[in-house]
Amino acid sequence: MSGSVTVIGLGPGDAGTLTPDASSALDGATDLVGYSTYLDMVPDHVAATRHGSDNREEAARAAAALDLAADGRRVVVVSSGDPGVFAMAAAVLEQLDAPEPPERWSDVTVEVLPGVTAAQATAARAGAPLGHDFAVISLSDNLKPWPVIERRLDAVAAADLVIALYNPASRARPHQLSEAVDVLLRHRAPDTVVVLGRDVGRPGETIRIVSLAEVPDAGVDMRTVVIVGSSQTRRLTTSDGSVRAYTPRRYPGVDEA
Ligand code: SAH
Repeated sequence: MSGSVTVIGLGPGDAGTLTPDASSALDGATDLVGYSTYLDMVPDHVAATRHGSDNREEAARAAAALDLAADGRRVVVVSSGDPGVFAMAAAVLEQLDAPEPPERWSDVTVEVLPGVTAAQATAARAGAPLGHDFAVISLSDNLKPWPVIERRLDAVAAADLVIALYNPASRARPHQLSEAVDVLLRHRAPDTVVVLGRDVGRPGETIRIVSLAEVPDAGVDMRTVVIVGSSQTRRLTTSDGSVRAYTPRRYPGVDEA
């Protein structure tokens, strides 16, 4: 009998953002496959056998999950956040789409369940910076050449979209975030509102609201998601003194109905 591969995301970290569907998939699993750090975030009561691996071995991990399922196992592949956002869902489909995939994978069912991605969780904490059109870009140049990243940043900044930046600070390319900010500053004012969410939903979470010009020196690391506002994104100090960021739904030039 053939098994199944269900690709899930745990949400950013706290149990409250694990969806009920993802939680049921974990409860029904015989095997969990994922980066060890994420498997450690799976609730303790989940009894499935855990197959942890290094963060970089995504292709091998996806193939291992399909192999286990071909043996009849109910495999859950675990990502953080949403599994379709810079995570394992595409890695599993890439394996199935490879030239001559193993015949024994042909009866495996594959399902992807949605999760709460880091940008959504950060946005909610800060207010509503994603309240109008936005783009999501990874600054990682492991799988994408830097000139492509630069071109995309320039295009979305010119289009005045809010931009959520993932993987903002690779150790191999420490200057990439300030290079990215330089590209954004071609189209955005230095005082553009930026939200920095670090370890959102995890112990030690911080949410900071800064200006675009402050980002290069703000100590942004790989555990941070950076939401760069559009020309319309604003700061708001609420009656309790807390500062919020939001992007209004109405764009200038649109009359009130
Ligand atoms: N699938 C994940 C993203 C994986 S890429 C998701 O949907 O959230 C890894 C990047 O996601 C990190 O470099 C960081 O930019 C962001 N990220 C993931 N979890 C985060 C968290 N809890 N707090 C802040 N940023 C996070």
